[in-house]
Amino acid sequence: MQRAAPQDFDRVLSSMCTEPHPAAREAAERFLATNPGDPGTYQTVARLEERAVELLGEITALDDPAGYITSGGTEANIQAVRIARNYVDADEPNVVVPESAHFSFTKAAEMLDVELREVPTTDYRADVAAMADVVDANTVGIVAVAGTTEYGHVDPIPALADLAEDAGALLHVDAAFGGFFLPFTDIEWNFAHAGVDTMTIDPHKAGQAAVPAGGFLARSTDYLDELTIDTPYLESESQFTLTGTRSGAGVASAVAAMETLWPDGYRDQYQASMDNAHWLADRFEERGYDVVGPELPLLAADVSLELVEQLRDRGWRVTKTGSGEMRVVCMPHVTRSMLRTFVADLDWF
Ligand code: PLP
Repeated sequence: MQRAAPQDFDRVLSSMCTEPHPAAREAAERFLATNPGDPGTYQTVARLEERAVELLGEITALDDPAGYITSGGTEANIQAVRIARNYVDADEPNVVVPESAHFSFTKAAEMLDVELREVPTTDYRADVAAMADVVDANTVGIVAVAGTTEYGHVDPIPALADLAEDAGALLHVDAAFGGFFLPFTDIEWNFAHAGVDTMTIDPHKAGQAAVPAGGFLARSTDYLDELTIDTPYLESESQFTLTGTRSGAGVASAVAAMETLWPDGYRDQYQASMDNAHWLADRFEERGYDVVGPELPLLAADVSLELVEQLRDRGWRVTKTGSGEMRVVCMPHVTRSMLRTFVADLDWF
């Protein structure tokens, strides 16, 4: 078989992953054969993981952060639900999420035998009153999304934190997508803004690290204790991660990306990506399409399914939202010239 090559990014408008920063790519290659799941043996990468958590703490305004580099946002969300279920006392635990929450919460609920209460959104955001209506004595967790997968919107996080506190439940913020953009906005989303207990924030998305590098943060190590099991035959005695052997490449690349880009590089990227998203929104609107966003560098436009299929046939990687709009994610690899070519193709049909 011919040597396979990965896809180019020059027509990818659908992905929340992106070209890793060169420093992240180099670090990933250097640490390919390491396993932070066995920190006694792989000590350097274990120290790098502590550094990764420290940097994620800076980005999310959390002093003394606890956490680790996960396989992705899915694992981080599963761990958040697991903590809520184990930490809060309830006979039949439920977690309340806006319907815009990522499908990883469905996986988490099924695996952990927790009821998932999905609540309709209003204007693409969590409806706090509607969520309050379904909270009860068995609610162990409330989820807020800081950058939804479909529309890039941020939920009212301080209000949801208050709701969680009143309910005696934990508040988890899923900033898997938004976490590396939000520090440069006025939006309240982080640990200092509200009573956030746990958070997902993924270096392998807008953090420009290599896959796999998700991020899980907890306000206190007490929460990680809820996940801890004994590991008798490793040099270390216990483990709170979901997977065992893990990617040292992901950990090292996350540190390299964050040390290189935080904060100025990420700020520049946020500005460039937002400018691109606004530029594209204007082009759609000029052509008579309804546009949702951009609040973060992600927008949706009511382009017909037929046109989306035609664009796909021309090599554009675009996806549809559940309601049928075309969704475009302006990740770092998405440049203005790429968007000009995209708009020219849009006009061609
Ligand atoms: N949370 C949000 C908001 C996401 O957008 C995604 C993925 O797009 C995830 C979680 C899951 O992340 P991963 O695909 O890294 O598991």
